[in-house]
Amino acid sequence: MVKKWVYLFSEIAEAEQYAGDWEGVRALLGGKGTGLADMTRAGVPVPPGFTVTTEACNEYRKNGKFPAKMWDQQLAALKVVEKQTGKKFGDPKSPLLVSCRSGAKFSMPGMMNTILNIGLTDATAEGMIKLTSNPRFVWDLYRRLVEMFGTVVMDLPDELFEKPLVEIKDRQGYRHDTDLTADDWRGLSMSYKKIYKKETGMPFPQESLKQLELATEAVFRSWNGKRAVDYRRATGISDDLGTAVNIVTMVFGNMGEDSGTGVAFTREPSTGDKKMMGEYLLNAQGEDVVAGIRNTEPIEKLADRMPAVYHEFMQITDKLEDHYREMQDIEFTIERGKLWILQTRNGKRAPRAAVKIAVDMVNEGRISKDEAILRVLPEQVDALLHPQFDEHAIRQAEKSGVFFAKGVNASPGAAVGQVYFDADTAEKMALEEKQAVIMVRPFTKPDDVHGMIPSRGVLTSEGGATSHAAVVARQFGIPCVVGASAITIDLARRRMQANGKRVKEGEWISMDGTTGRVFIGRIPTSEPSLDEQQELMTLLQWADQICARQGLRSGPKGWPGRGLQVWTNADYPKDAHRARLYGAVGIGLCRTEHMFFEQERLPIVQRMILAESSEARVKALDELLPFQRKDFDGLFRAMDGYPVIIRLIDPPLHEFMQDEEKLFEEVVSMRIRRKTAGLEEKEALLASIKAMHESNPMMGMRGVRLSIVMPEIVEMQVRAIFEAAADCTERGIIVKPEVMIPLTGTIKELEWIQPRLERIASAVMHEKGVSFAYKFGTMIEIPRAAVTAAEIARLAQFFSFGTNDLTQMTFGYSRDDAERNFLVTYVEQGILPQNPFQTIDREGVGKLMEWAIAEGRKTRPDLEVGICGEHGGDPASIEWCHLIGVNYVSCSPFRVPAARLAAAHAALKFGGRGIAEDK
Ligand code: PEP
Ligand code: MG
Repeated sequence: MVKKWVYLFSEIAEAEQYAGDWEGVRALLGGKGTGLADMTRAGVPVPPGFTVTTEACNEYRKNGKFPAKMWDQQLAALKVVEKQTGKKFGDPKSPLLVSCRSGAKFSMPGMMNTILNIGLTDATAEGMIKLTSNPRFVWDLYRRLVEMFGTVVMDLPDELFEKPLVEIKDRQGYRHDTDLTADDWRGLSMSYKKIYKKETGMPFPQESLKQLELATEAVFRSWNGKRAVDYRRATGISDDLGTAVNIVTMVFGNMGEDSGTGVAFTREPSTGDKKMMGEYLLNAQGEDVVAGIRNTEPIEKLADRMPAVYHEFMQITDKLEDHYREMQDIEFTIERGKLWILQTRNGKRAPRAAVKIAVDMVNEGRISKDEAILRVLPEQVDALLHPQFDEHAIRQAEKSGVFFAKGVNASPGAAVGQVYFDADTAEKMALEEKQAVIMVRPFTKPDDVHGMIPSRGVLTSEGGATSHAAVVARQFGIPCVVGASAITIDLARRRMQANGKRVKEGEWISMDGTTGRVFIGRIPTSEPSLDEQQELMTLLQWADQICARQGLRSGPKGWPGRGLQVWTNADYPKDAHRARLYGAVGIGLCRTEHMFFEQERLPIVQRMILAESSEARVKALDELLPFQRKDFDGLFRAMDGYPVIIRLIDPPLHEFMQDEEKLFEEVVSMRIRRKTAGLEEKEALLASIKAMHESNPMMGMRGVRLSIVMPEIVEMQVRAIFEAAADCTERGIIVKPEVMIPLTGTIKELEWIQPRLERIASAVMHEKGVSFAYKFGTMIEIPRAAVTAAEIARLAQFFSFGTNDLTQMTFGYSRDDAERNFLVTYVEQGILPQNPFQTIDREGVGKLMEWAIAEGRKTRPDLEVGICGEHGGDPASIEWCHLIGVNYVSCSPFRVPAARLAAAHAALKFGGRGIAEDK
């Protein structure tokens, strides 16, 4: 049987049957094609048309030509559309015009090609003029077709066509495109055809079918265009999907004042408020609205201009939101008073709106809590914790006259950065020069996206809330202000001005995507507070409830039945407080050495390190003990009732000492200048530091090795931990201390150190006359420890994966240098799928983890297992931890909310299924 490459909009049932399920239909017909067919079935007024499948696109990409019979099927479908519309393709008596639009499975707004008005030729144009008695309209359509065909199908530069339009406007003194007369457009059509012929060496095709064929091919090709590829890289959409091509009957919004076109969101896309937000233009074509070139009217105004159409539109949009149970982004056209819906899709929204809409839809009874959780991405939660301007500082800024301009608040959040006026420079300054960048443009186009993504903020002087800049910025959580029309940008001189003030390229501005205000200079920002974001708190509570479900995971004895918990890495009580507020239920890593660096302690630490006898060392440590006890007391108080894992000293000791090279320079300069006072001490210090030197300190005397060579330090630390815990217990605080030994490689190390430390723990409890539960455990960050985990678990009551070191040592890549030197190239070249220091390498490091857990639990079924490397806050790594039976992930306080959501995503995605089949 011949494969079906083409589906009429009325053939959605056939597509479902072939593809098996809805996901399959979306993959086959693309999001846009599926939407059009689905709307047709639901009785929504959609212009007749058909879809050429993504499978056809993929065949074309493979073989460089249309698959057999595809074109025949397109011709047959066209015949049906002709019947439905009563028009004929290429027939001057009643010409049918169509658009040819790309549409992949996942929306890639503006990234691929669209060609409108296909079917117009010299002959059909004349025919249409007779039919419509509107030559101005027809010539405008024709010149648009030639322009789009030239730029999109034949890859000619935009400027070739822009120039004659600008010239005619200048010559005639017109301000807007709408000022052009029928003769002007006709003349322009002729000029465009000449340009086309000159540049391509071929006349503009005068057979409608040839136009359709070339346009279909151009859309297929646009899947591999640079901006589409860049967009897929940034959003993680697979290159293999291909795009469908939708051939849709043209309806016209530019047939006079009873026609128009617009776009609308069923809910407010920046805030999520349940209020339609849209804009339209009368007597215009679709791209006039999206490009943000003409100033649009808010959709509410349509109620006065065309009450019946407005009423019908509101009814249809309600129906669409009900049908899809999701906020919709709808494109419509009114042709001589008749409403047509051209497209509906799930609307892109700012992170704050994503959370609000998800929670509201649960409260409205439209979706379940599980669905709501899956509708918000961990990255969006992250964006919600973006900085905001400090209230006080903003008021000061207003008073001090640094206000620059105001525009539409298109994507929330505060951004402070240096101004750059084009995407390439913005990208370069952000990525190569590591500057905080604000990209400023009159308006943005799809090929500006590469500059937007690494920018802190985006500012445009034109366009509205649905303009390209607004939609893209919202999606990526980049603060954005659009349509700040007081600003004039002088691209040639690389500067802009507004309200009598001037900003040159490279100067700093502060912009507020929440209010739309822009200021000159740098305004301090403040961290957002989660507790003011009620909907987010609610959503995250649901996430926790999902993770707490029993029976989500199954495995051998000791395997957790529930989902992951989220703990935090916190060294100070203030971090612990924030983490609690953000929902962490334990401290998974307190790096105690950070406490040693504080100003009043460092000299004592250095004295302790340089001590020549154990007695002298103990004396210095005795001075440190009260400090440490106070640190731990604060942590226990902040985490009342929750476990606190305290890691014993880890880094090599030279890190606490003066820089060797600097000291050497000092000594040499003192010698040259014959400065003897203090020289001897400095020389002695230099000798000691030199003696500590290691060629490879990360693999040297650190972690448990240091504890074995100098046990006095960790003995002091354990005493401080248990004294603080005992004091807290006496004050009614519930403590759950867990002492973590870093960098273990062999059980022998634990056998040497752990009993000594446990004796101190018991002694303190005895002295204080209190008892509480505690654990001793180890980090698993050396491959040997992972491999011999069954042995290690004989003594260790818990494991915590230090995946920073584990990745370093498994790959043999320096965690300090690899990213700078070769890792970026490795990822670009596809040697590594992603940076393994950000996302766990499941095949290597991940396997070691899996093995260590399984082996460890063979020895000790109730072994508690966590992760405290940077991966603990990365959604993909969190998913892996769920799959291999980790109990909790631990990450920095700011990442806790997103991690809670990621944990719930993993639970929903894999919950209830056997572990083995999930990997
Ligand atoms: C790790 O190695 O993953 C870890 C958490 O320890 P650190 O980063 O302090 O070496
Ligand atoms: Mg480590």
